[in-house]
This record gives sequence, C-alpha cells and structure tokens, in this order.
Amino acid sequence: MLQPSEKAYVPFVSVDNMMRLTHHIGIEEMLRGLAGAIEEDFRRWELFDKTPRVASHSEVGVIELMPTSDGEFYGFKYVNGHPKNTGEGLQTVTAFGLLADVYTGYPKLLTEMTMLTALRTAATSAMVAKHLAPKGSKTMAMIGNGAQSEFQTLAMKALIGLENVRLYDTDPKATDKAARNLEGMGVTVTKCKSAEESMEGAEIITTCTADKQYATILSDNMVGSGVHINAIGGDCPGKTELAEAILHRSDIFVEFPPQTRVEGEIQQLAEDHPVTELWQVITGTAEGRRSAGQITLFDSVGFAIEDFSALRYVQKAIKGTEFYQDLDMLADPDDPRDLFGMLRRAQGD
Ligand code: NAD
Repeated sequence: MLQPSEKAYVPFVSVDNMMRLTHHIGIEEMLRGLAGAIEEDFRRWELFDKTPRVASHSEVGVIELMPTSDGEFYGFKYVNGHPKNTGEGLQTVTAFGLLADVYTGYPKLLTEMTMLTALRTAATSAMVAKHLAPKGSKTMAMIGNGAQSEFQTLAMKALIGLENVRLYDTDPKATDKAARNLEGMGVTVTKCKSAEESMEGAEIITTCTADKQYATILSDNMVGSGVHINAIGGDCPGKTELAEAILHRSDIFVEFPPQTRVEGEIQQLAEDHPVTELWQVITGTAEGRRSAGQITLFDSVGFAIEDFSALRYVQKAIKGTEFYQDLDMLADPDDPRDLFGMLRRAQGD
C-alpha cells in the first residue's frame, strides 16, 4: 500500500526501451511469450469486459480506442490506421497503451505500442495458426511486405516451425526490404513477382496489405483446398482483402464477432453468416480444423484483449530492469482534497 508521503510514478516504456527489452528477451522468445499470454487470456475470455473498439473515421484513415478489463486491471490502446501515411514517410499504424489498477483507478504502465502491436499481431496470428493451420506447415505466402510482415514471418517460425516464406508486394522495394531484414533469421526467403507465385506450395497464406478499399488481394481461383488463410489487412469498414467467394468456401474464425462483423472480411457477408469464436477453439468448446481439405480463415482485425495481454506481459517483463522511465503523471497532494493547495505551494518553486 502506498504511504501518503510516497510519490507514485508510472513506468513508461519508450520505443527505444521497447526495442531494448525485445532484444534482451530475444525476438522469437518474446513472440512466444506474447502468444502464451494471449492464449491464456483467450482461455479466460468470458470474464473480460468486451466492447467493439471506438473508431473515429476520416477519409484518409481511422483513429481507435480499444478498452478492456479483467476486473483486476483495465487497459486501453490508442491506435491509428492511415494507409496513405507510408507515401509521406510515416507509419500506417502507430499506437500507445495504458494499463491501470481497477481498485484505485491509478495508471500502472504507459507504453509505446507501435512495436508492441506488430509483435502482438504476429503472436496472435501464429497462436491461431498453431490451432488451425495444417499440422507441419512449413511454407507461408506473405502478401504485403510492409511494417508487419517480418514480425508475422518470425512468429510463424517461433511458434509453428515455419521454414519458408514467399514474399510478394506490389512495391518490389517493400519485398527487397523484408527479404533483407529476414536474412540470417533462419527462414528461407523467396521473392515472388505475383501473389499467385507466392502461393505456390504454401500451406499458410497471410494477406497483410494496406489500402482503404474493398481490395481483391486473393481472388477465388487462387485459393486451393486445405490452406489456412491469415487475413490481417482487412480491419476497417470498407477495407477488405479477399474475394467474397473465398469466404463461402472457408470456415471462418474470428476474435469478437460484434467487432469483426463491422471491420473484418465478413463485413461482405450476411449478418447471420456462421463464424466460430477463437476462444472457443482454444478452450475446446468449438472445433478447429476438421479435415485436410478444409480452408480455415482467421479473419483478424485485432481485439482489445490481445493488447491487454501484451500490456500485462510488458508490465511483468520490465520489473527489475532498466527498460523504463518513471513518469510523474499522478498528482499526489498530502491531503487528497487539497489539490489546489498543492498548486499554490508549487508557485515560485
Ligand atoms: P504497411 O503500409 O507498412 O504495408 C502494407 C504493404 O502492402 C505495403 O508495402 C504495400 O505496398 C502493400 N500492398 C498494398 N496493396 C497491395 C496489393 N494489392 N498486393 C500486394 N501488396 C500490396 O502496413 P502494415 O503496418 O504492414 O499493416 C498492413 C495492414 O495490416 C494494414 O491494413 C493494417 O491496418 C493491418 N493491421 C492489422 C492488424 C490486426 O490486428 N489485424 C494489426 C496491425 C495492422
């Protein structure tokens, strides 16, 4: 319990410190740790407060708040999605997040979440692939080679033993960048000239493109039976990546239906089209992959509980390390009602 005279600071993890923490733990180890934390929270899905994220749309992008609570901690992430940003030398996605103590309402952690979102999105994809992709999958087509792509690839290596990645992007410079970044990371990289070529021999197809439109990254005739599709980029109203016909041939798995129906690939389908919630597959109350010929589709949009898990993971991981700064963001007058007196006494300090 905090004594009245003790100053309460909030640990803050900057981008620099998040990178140092990631290297201290090891990228693949951190991806496995995050996937474990997310899977654990999916197992306790029912006790979380759940709400679709609060989105503010503009013509060029979206700004979102993603809150949730497990009754002990409350967390939220601020995140944007602006596909036009890369053309201006800016990130498509940036984020920060906060974790608070439910009992006092006091913030307990403030952290950058641009890096952490890439890590948690990749960890979620790989955790889901562990449950749904064909057993022993070794090859992934990675379509869209932007900021998320290397994280996606490494998480699949760390969690399910992926050996080969086949890269494709409409911008060959993005593919060159991803290939360079993945050099020496233990995955065989093939640069491809078309989406079709990237899918040759792939058991897993990841689409991770950014375009604010109903895009057709995969058309129906491109997708053979038995594959697992990890669809990351369709995560906003009016922004999808798959031809509707593929959805009718797939068994569709989602995070939180009320959010995915508005934001995911399934915004193209009738509101009552059957989908399976991932937490039920993880707890064994719903079936995952049933047959070798089945197409499984993870219609990923990113849900608040994944960010909550990532915030809790970081909160534990920084304990006893130097990878954070103390922030003075809590007013602490000796008499809690004397906030104004504290302001007066500070005059001329
Ligand atoms: P980015 O802008 O860094 O990269 C996107 C890449 O897609 C670019 O290299 C672009 O050239 C490429 N691209 C665009 N159209 C294409 C096409 N038709 N075929 C092949 N490549 C194409 O973006 P990012 O940070 O890597 O994010 C990618 C997408 O993932 C975004 O739409 C983002 O909103 C989404 N996202 C989803 C989650 C989630 O949890 N589901 C999390 C983070 C990001």
